[in-house]
Amino acid sequence: MTASRPLAALPPSNIAEPVLADVSKALRAAAAKEERGARPISRSIDLLRQADLLTDDGASDPARAARALMQVGAANLGVGRLFEGHVNALHLVRLYGTKVQKARVDRRIAEGALLGVWGADGAVPVTLDATGKHLQGGKCFASGLGTVTHALVTVDSGPEVRLALVDVTDAARSDLSAWDMQGMRATASGTYDFTGLSTAQVEWIGNPGDYLKEPHFVGGVWRIAALQAGATAGLLDGAAADLRMAGRMDAEAQKARLMSVLIQGWAGMALVERAADAAADRRIAQDDIVATSIAARLFTEEVGLDAIRAVEQSIGLRHFDTGSETGRMARDLAVYLRQAARDAFLQRAAQTALGEDGRIWGVFG
Ligand SMILES: Cc1cc2nc3c(=O)[nH]c(=O)nc-3n(C[C@H](O)[C@H](O)[C@H](O)COP(=O)(O)OP(=O)(O)OC[C@H]3O[C@@H](n4cnc5c(N)ncnc54)[C@H](O)[C@@H]3O)c2cc1C
Repeated sequence: MTASRPLAALPPSNIAEPVLADVSKALRAAAAKEERGARPISRSIDLLRQADLLTDDGASDPARAARALMQVGAANLGVGRLFEGHVNALHLVRLYGTKVQKARVDRRIAEGALLGVWGADGAVPVTLDATGKHLQGGKCFASGLGTVTHALVTVDSGPEVRLALVDVTDAARSDLSAWDMQGMRATASGTYDFTGLSTAQVEWIGNPGDYLKEPHFVGGVWRIAALQAGATAGLLDGAAADLRMAGRMDAEAQKARLMSVLIQGWAGMALVERAADAAADRRIAQDDIVATSIAARLFTEEVGLDAIRAVEQSIGLRHFDTGSETGRMARDLAVYLRQAARDAFLQRAAQTALGEDGRIWGVFG
């Protein structure tokens, strides 16, 4: 099944950057093979590199970065996940790295590097060992095993957390079997063991605690929201194409069901763009930036869930065939929507907007 027109479900804005239109088409065509392991995801990353998308950390025009993430997420969420990790890592290096480190990372990217941010600790968290000369512990859900070349790894936790830039190409330290999920299989997000790695092989980026500084930490979850919103649009687009081919898209019930969710999707995209813009606007209070980014993440999560339900009802049982395009997109989206600590995030946004000194207008005021 292929969409008869490109990205019909994206909103009527200038979201479709010309450079991304061709890339999106290729990414969409590759996604099923990547899920099956029949094509390495690195080839899709090469397409992003050739389109010059890996040199931008999104800081100069965050809304444009959000649109790029949405568009890549709509076409191929697995690739979008690796793209998002790279953009996030590059942003952190440019925020907290020294001049020399920034130049070195730029040079590595030009030579083919892909970055990632690996924060989720495995059974043994990553810390320095007793001698202070080696790392110990490992990371789980480490996206891009075998594709990410350099990861920003969190060492220790809490206010003393540090960012270590590490070459993560040692296959002997990776365990792909730890990622046996129903969706997002192409991202190869397994475990990586850092135990025994000499600190001589680590580049420390910034100072302890920098990683948690706002508005860049939670205030940056609009990037996740962008992928969620884009993947939701991509799923609805795929469903509409499928229904058109089956001669079922003209039914009033189908239009009403899918359009209602798409309208929510457009609202989510607008919120993502607003959150992205606000994150770079120094006139806005940090708490408001954070609350808006959280709102974008949680709203697009809900819309993603609604879209999955609507597509199941619209396509019917064929959606659950293992070879179904919409089935694959929904699997990927359902897994990706499971991001950390959703309820705590909701509480935090509520405290800002509705608490003692509540500011319900937030970044919209
Ligand atoms: C495709 C994919 C790729 C990823 N890649 C990376 C990566 O490259 N690097 C990386 O670091 N991470 C990565 N992650 C992991 C991500 O950072 C999160 O760790 C992960 O998504 C956590 O999801 P969760 O639903 O288990 O979250 P949880 O935070 O465990 O939430 C699950 C539920 O438990 C609730 N909950 C959480 N804490 C508590 C508590 N204390 N008490 C009561 N309830 C609680 C939550 O509100 C929620 O309802 C990836 C995730 C996905 C899906």
